[in-house]
Amino acid sequence: SNFAAVDMHDLILDAIIPVRAKSSNLEIDLVCNRLESSYVLGNAEELKQVILHLLKNAIEASHAGQTIEIHGVQCENLYRVEVIDQGEGISDLAFPHMFDTFFTTKPTGSGLGLSLSKKIIDLHAGSLYAFCDEKGTHFIMELPLTPHEN
Ligand code: ADP
Ligand code: MG
Repeated sequence: SNFAAVDMHDLILDAIIPVRAKSSNLEIDLVCNRLESSYVLGNAEELKQVILHLLKNAIEASHAGQTIEIHGVQCENLYRVEVIDQGEGISDLAFPHMFDTFFTTKPTGSGLGLSLSKKIIDLHAGSLYAFCDEKGTHFIMELPLTPHEN
């Protein structure tokens, strides 16, 4: 496969570029103040696509004046990317289905983003999951670090 060592710090910054203008037009603050540099083994384009999709969903869930946080941190043998929004959250009815192919609660949604993202992360031996708390909706993607670079 076309897996290579990928610096997650640089990859996250790259993934944000396409949504910068959109979030600022919508007056949604995109903040990225915890971003560690560590390597994972993967397909950079696919991993970027996943992060970009989590950011797009976060923007679609958010309203003007709200903040979206994105963090990238190393914990033990994993790299964790976390996208947190202050939007509407996920209903108990939708929660068990959100990774299903074609599942959408949006009038013109495709329901493909999370199911494709999940497949990509599975192929990277990682995990992708979500939870909601008082801080907002968290989407978390975890990937194993490359053994020789940590
Ligand atoms: P789509 O964006 O086309 O609806 P996705 O696969 O990206 O498809 O997401 C599936 C569903 O998961 C969404 O329709 C929505 O109900 C829910 N969802 C995803 N991200 C969020 C989020 N950040 N906040 C609230 N709900 C979300
Ligand atoms: Mg989507």
